[in-house]
Amino acid sequence: MGKKEILEKFSADPDRYYKVRLFEEKGFARKSCATCHRYFWTMDEKRTNCPDHSDDTYSFIGNPPTKKRFDYTQAWKEVESFFVKNGHTSVNRYPVVCRWRDDLYFTIASIVDFQRVMGSKVVFEFPANPLVVPQTCLRFKDLENVGVTGRHFSSFCMIGQHSIPENHGYWKDQCIDLDYRLVTEQFGVDKNEVVFVEDVWEGGGSFGSSLEFFVKGVELGNAVFTEFQGDLTSYKTLDQKIIDMGAGLERFAWITMGTPTAYDCCFGPVTGNLIQQAGIDANSELLVRYFTEIAKNLDRFGDLSEVRKNASKSAGISEEQVKKTITPLEGIYLIADHIRTLIFAISDGALPSNVGGGYNLRIMLRRIISTMDRLGLKFDMNEIIDAQIDYLKKTYPELEKTRKDVKTIIEIESGRYESSKLRMQKIASKLNQRPTVDDLIRLYESDGVTPDYLKEINVISEIPSTFYTKLSELHQSKKVEKQEHLPLEGLAETELLYYDKDPKEFDAKVLKSFDKYVVLDRTSFYARGGGQEPDHGKIAGFDVVDVNKHGNIVVHELKGGIPKEGETVSCIVDSKRREGITKHHTSTHILNSSSRNVLGSWVWQHSAFKEEDHARLDITHHSALTEEEVAKIEELANAKVKENIPVTIENFDRGTAEQKYGFRIYQGGIVPVKSVRIVSIEDFDVEACGGTHVKSTKDVELIKITRTKRIQDGVVRLEFVAGKTAQEYVKKHEAELAKASAEQAAKEQRDKQREERKEQVREKIPALLEQITQTSEGKVDEILVSGGKFYSTTGDQYDEYFHINFGEKLVKANPKAVYCGIFEEKDTVRAIIHAGEEASKQSKASDIAQAVSLVLGGSGGGSPRFAQGGGPDKSKKDEAINKAKSMVLE
Ligand SMILES: [Zn+2]
Ligand SMILES: [Zn+2]
Repeated sequence: MGKKEILEKFSADPDRYYKVRLFEEKGFARKSCATCHRYFWTMDEKRTNCPDHSDDTYSFIGNPPTKKRFDYTQAWKEVESFFVKNGHTSVNRYPVVCRWRDDLYFTIASIVDFQRVMGSKVVFEFPANPLVVPQTCLRFKDLENVGVTGRHFSSFCMIGQHSIPENHGYWKDQCIDLDYRLVTEQFGVDKNEVVFVEDVWEGGGSFGSSLEFFVKGVELGNAVFTEFQGDLTSYKTLDQKIIDMGAGLERFAWITMGTPTAYDCCFGPVTGNLIQQAGIDANSELLVRYFTEIAKNLDRFGDLSEVRKNASKSAGISEEQVKKTITPLEGIYLIADHIRTLIFAISDGALPSNVGGGYNLRIMLRRIISTMDRLGLKFDMNEIIDAQIDYLKKTYPELEKTRKDVKTIIEIESGRYESSKLRMQKIASKLNQRPTVDDLIRLYESDGVTPDYLKEINVISEIPSTFYTKLSELHQSKKVEKQEHLPLEGLAETELLYYDKDPKEFDAKVLKSFDKYVVLDRTSFYARGGGQEPDHGKIAGFDVVDVNKHGNIVVHELKGGIPKEGETVSCIVDSKRREGITKHHTSTHILNSSSRNVLGSWVWQHSAFKEEDHARLDITHHSALTEEEVAKIEELANAKVKENIPVTIENFDRGTAEQKYGFRIYQGGIVPVKSVRIVSIEDFDVEACGGTHVKSTKDVELIKITRTKRIQDGVVRLEFVAGKTAQEYVKKHEAELAKASAEQAAKEQRDKQREERKEQVREKIPALLEQITQTSEGKVDEILVSGGKFYSTTGDQYDEYFHINFGEKLVKANPKAVYCGIFEEKDTVRAIIHAGEEASKQSKASDIAQAVSLVLGGSGGGSPRFAQGGGPDKSKKDEAINKAKSMVLE
């Protein structure tokens, strides 16, 4: 059965599904719409059509049906005080990032706050009964309507009125009674204006009949009486019936203000300021006419440009007026809406990126920038953020805390967009025909080119109405991993010893064994979970190589064989491995909070992995980490280790834990059980976690970050070691450093000594010269004298400076002499030859240099008096000297 058939079925029995006490008491009549035949309830005798087909549709624009005027903030105060006065608890909004459901990125309705998924079932958990909540909801399906239709928002405040019939709650009669009185008494709408329309609502695995209430053609709220579980074709009555009334706060404000659009009364001073800055003449009479027509035309045409065209025609507005007034106004409304959504999302820890829910945020920021560029609007983004938060904090004071972080993220992200424009321009210039919706999606998905940019540079004139719907469908829900199916039917859940006494040696009974798997009645082996790797050890003498949880049953994987079913086996957990893993796990918690403290409120654990001797923590962050940031994170983490803070573990009812600690506890993902295990390191770090932990932070010993890397857009990986591995890492690192610095010191010492020796030798030149010229045969300080006219040396205390200076002075003092100095310089051997004035007539320095170099495997040359050369062969130094000697003496 589809929704239409169910509605028919329910409407065929109105006493059972729709008739409430109020209708009887006040004399509401049930009518069928003369146009569409839907059933509705009204006190207005003359009304013949449902709100969708009445003449008074949107007639409140410019002519509100109430005496009182309430803007967004005031409207909530009115709603809240009404429900509190009538026995409800007012609950703070839940985050817009839906951390407690792994099938949703963002909170899309107020009832989602109280839904928890357990297996395949959705259960409801209310922190109070009955309650009312101003829940900010994000929806990205109708983005192209935002700013244009006067009533579509990318985020809006859903007034959630929720009740469970038992325990002080109520059911249909009182719900509708309250909603009617809210609209008539609290807001002052005439009773004849309130129309209830029969409908059916389905979602989250349950459904029920519903009454939508309208005033002047605008739907203010929808009261859903959730009483069936399953889908429309196969269902049964829920154990727990739920009142799920959701109403749009923006519409409550709008109907009392009667402004041309809902945007005009829901952003406080923001839109007014922007209109003034842009210098737009916002003639309200013209806008009332135009936006009333837009509202009426919206459902008549599928295409937005058709809606616009017909509205301006019916309102008698020229093309010039549309261009000068309407188009820039649409841009301003869009900017105000999108920035408000970004403020909520970033405050609650989401980052613009190209994956998951971050997609929507990135595309919205790019739309803001494109819109400003296209319309030539030069607004200061920080000013708009400030004005929005100043206004919103009256209802949502928590936004004050993240004011700075929101600005930081928007600035970084805007910079990225600006720097990608050149590339987008190139891609856009290659588009030759009108791109289809699929082309546009591909262009955005693979190249980051937004349709708003293409509109800005006139490649397309309008964004197709299905673009954002399609894109949002592609990125709406997360993928849930499936586990391998094992035959475990009928087995009792495993008693987990590691949460209690945690014995490392224990006996257990084999409940089932098959292939390589064993299921015991009880176990101390930690099963892989929450990024913590499983324990190893022995069961009945066989090696345990893997441990996994299937539901509440722990399955051990063995190597080498398996024990028989029914046997009692002795089990030993590898306690050294466990200890290593445990230290790394607690360190992950410490590093996660350290990172958030150092970097910003947007840091969440993205995922984690903890092994015996290493671990990694992936955090959400916009950029790669700098060395300074890494050092700061490590420093703070180790300061917390030193403080020796006790690590406490307590079990709470899930709702209590959420109320007490907030949704920060879900760092490792959702907890699909009613009782959550809260691991806290005082108030530094509080997480819902099923892993093993040390007793006190000092047990971790030390945390060293070994490497960091940006692994995807918006996610940074920290690889680290803790405990013994960290100590060893530091020792090894220190030993390497010590070795390197010792080598450096030795080299410096050697260099210094050599320099000193050279210096000494230079000072000795005159004395040496004196001494050597008096010798005709022999050796003075490594300088050989042969036949009173050949002087040579290979002594390593002599350098180039010496050979040049000493040789020159020597042959000057003895014109018959030839000097040949050979020395090593880096990888080569060099030779310097001087020949005295007389000697050079017979033995030219250049000839000697050439011959000597040949011996050394190189080449040389110069003048008859002075020449040099050399070669690589260090073993031929003596041979080279002998060659020179023979050329002079023979
Ligand atoms: Zn109708
Ligand atoms: Zn944990």
